[in-house]
Amino acid sequence: SRRKLVVGNWKMNGMRAHLDEVEAIGKLAAQHPAVEVGLCLPATLIMAGSQLKGAAFIGAQNCHMELSGAYTGSLSAEMLIEAGATWVITGHSERRETRGETNADVAAKSVAAHAAGMKVILCVGETLAVRDAGDADEVVTAQLLASLPEGASADWLAVAYEPIWAIGTGRIPTLEAIQSMHATLRAALASRIGQEQADAMRILYGGSMNGDNAAEIIALPDVDGGLVGGASLSAAKFEPVIAAA
Ligand code: 13P
Repeated sequence: SRRKLVVGNWKMNGMRAHLDEVEAIGKLAAQHPAVEVGLCLPATLIMAGSQLKGAAFIGAQNCHMELSGAYTGSLSAEMLIEAGATWVITGHSERRETRGETNADVAAKSVAAHAAGMKVILCVGETLAVRDAGDADEVVTAQLLASLPEGASADWLAVAYEPIWAIGTGRIPTLEAIQSMHATLRAALASRIGQEQADAMRILYGGSMNGDNAAEIIALPDVDGGLVGGASLSAAKFEPVIAAA
């Protein structure tokens, strides 16, 4: 059975003053050992956060696909590991949409992260226009298969389904729609990496997950946890999400 995975994505939020929250969330993680808990921090907080992380892991929100070189402003997976990150998010919609990241970029970043020894949360999700047109299954499946790295395995990769229209909006799909998409994605994974690996791989839901809705979402059979933005910024808000998993 798949161990539940609940990960906070702080996005471009968090100053040293917020390290108390990292420490408090690390303590919460210790109180819920059945759940794997992590925080993907802004890069500036990874080193300090990893000293305070307790039972949580620290992740990054992006990495470069190359090992080193003339890439001003970028960070390699190896650098992020040295700072203390053990996981990295790849393909978040906020990078696909505003930074122009392609499926091929996401696959290459995921390969680079794995080669350096990191675990990966690979994000996929549809726009509202795609959902309304009835094309969500087809579009998100294609996105997943095109961004899934070669050799992807449940040991080091989890998928996050994040409908773009649910991110930061307070709107979430119906429970039926979430379960249906997750089952569709698991079937797509099976076609690529085999049923056994697909059954072992965690598929997280993300998009306006919070303490009020997490329990019913994470209880769905093909939902294995959450990727949580706003509700992960404080231990008080994140606690009920972790407890629900
Ligand atoms: P919110 O939980 O703030 O909607 O963000 C979700 C998300 O994008 C996590 O990566």
